[in-house]
Amino acid sequence: MPESERAEAIGPPSEKFRQLISELKRVVGEGHVLSSQVDLSVYECDGETLDIARPDLVVLPASTEEVQAVVRLANRYFVPVTPRGAGTGLSGGATTVVGGISLALTRMTKVLEIDPDNMVARVEAGVTNAAVSLAAERFGLYFAPDPSSQAASTVGGNIAENSGGPHTLKYGTTVNHVNGITVVLADGSVTTFGGRARDCLGLDLLGLFVGSEGTLGIATEAWLKLIPRPEAVETMTCYFQSVEAGGRAVSAVVAAGVIPAAMELIDRLTLRAVDDAHHMGLDRGAGSLLIIELDGSRAGIETLREVVVRCVSVEGAFGVRWAADAAERASIWKARKSAFGSLGRLAPHAYVLDGVIPRSRLAEAIREIEAIGGRHGVTIANVYHAGDGNLHPALLYHQDEQEMARVMKAGQEILELCVTLGGTLSGEHGIGIEKLHTMPILFSDADLKAMQWVKESFDPRGLCNPGKVLPAPGACGEFVPRPLLRHRLPAGS
Ligand SMILES: Cc1cc2nc3c(=O)[nH]c(=O)nc-3n(C[C@H](O)[C@H](O)[C@H](O)COP(=O)(O)OP(=O)(O)OC[C@H]3O[C@@H](n4cnc5c(N)ncnc54)[C@H](O)[C@@H]3O)c2cc1C
Repeated sequence: MPESERAEAIGPPSEKFRQLISELKRVVGEGHVLSSQVDLSVYECDGETLDIARPDLVVLPASTEEVQAVVRLANRYFVPVTPRGAGTGLSGGATTVVGGISLALTRMTKVLEIDPDNMVARVEAGVTNAAVSLAAERFGLYFAPDPSSQAASTVGGNIAENSGGPHTLKYGTTVNHVNGITVVLADGSVTTFGGRARDCLGLDLLGLFVGSEGTLGIATEAWLKLIPRPEAVETMTCYFQSVEAGGRAVSAVVAAGVIPAAMELIDRLTLRAVDDAHHMGLDRGAGSLLIIELDGSRAGIETLREVVVRCVSVEGAFGVRWAADAAERASIWKARKSAFGSLGRLAPHAYVLDGVIPRSRLAEAIREIEAIGGRHGVTIANVYHAGDGNLHPALLYHQDEQEMARVMKAGQEILELCVTLGGTLSGEHGIGIEKLHTMPILFSDADLKAMQWVKESFDPRGLCNPGKVLPAPGACGEFVPRPLLRHRLPAGS
């Protein structure tokens, strides 16, 4: 940062901080600036609860103009700003690791327009993912990215994390479904990347912003691509004696030339927890449960069904069942999408990983993950977006620091395994604070430096979600990191 732009970071209980609070209240209204410890405690982490750091203030703006005014004040007072949607993130992205302002966009929930002719929705960034498809339903359209958190997670969070979901296999992640965004940049200026129609020229700043985890600015509105609901949908469940057999069946389906809309695999531990929660009459003795969804034209889907059944049968599938109607399909997806919640029956906390491996190495990865769990005495429940090789091992733990240290070590080894197998650190949950220390496993110094240049070009004062994504020294700028558990536990303990 240039010397001329340096300023003293402020925080409570200084006089300057009190002035900042009154100015913020003038912008967003008295009731939309939270500063009591009870209120702040609600915002001290996201869905990754290993790392906790309380913000100094929570500010809840209602418009792009208010976001802009808040960011300008943050600049004037030199206070970091961490954007926040619903706080369902699983990598600590919305956790205020250096304090400052948690800027929650949850009052900005309007679907501003559905444009069926251009198949686009214009929405505020705090609207939930599910609300977009609901608003588009009467036009036979929907928003394809469907994170399992879609009832709660916001479009702004989906954009920042480039979220995917069970249907990523066929439809891709959020970046494939955004035409434009309005952004408040770190200096308080407002700009748009793309628009109703996607720009296909110049530097792809929209592509750069999607997945930048709140480190380059704050998205306040978005033009989302909508797609027609498929004419026919068929959803199948079947069981295998082992998870490996399920993994092989997934590879076999793709090798046969079928790209289902979704292929989701869950292991026995998860299957039993889901059955306990939803009383679905699942086969509790099975080693794994595979969900395959096909969609497309009515004419072609019958043939695809036959190919899929043939492929899973070769790997020993049993209990093959196609959902009889939309209600049965909905109950299958409800069960799958609440799998993480169901794990609460097994342990109070789960550290959910998000590694990616080449699909062909799924069975190998499954065996190795089990071995890592065994070595560290950690119980691991597994949910896989198996079709695209995106693994979600959930490491279960209690509030016990030694156990948590073992969980973190096992987590690190699983991510290293993913990279060794030719995969990557994250499929959809982002880096946040959680995977900062693993970035050098995947990226060279030159890669990380290039990312740091981009960050500094957008945010030279380091005010926008500091301490995330980039492990470079000084990534937190002038601000003092709060003592996260991740920092306290010695590496390798
Ligand atoms: C039960 C459960 C299931 C999940 N399933 C999936 C899944 O299937 N697929 C998947 O991809 N994820 C999944 N997630 C993770 C999470 O829901 C997604 O990452 C989601 O997109 C986060 O949205 P959010 O509104 O909660 O964002 P938050 O958690 O509040 O924030 C996430 C990140 O986005 C930034 N951010 C938020 N809003 C903005 C904005 N307007 N502008 C700029 N930056 C912003 C934050 O700073 C932070 O870095 C799941 C989480 C849970 C708890």
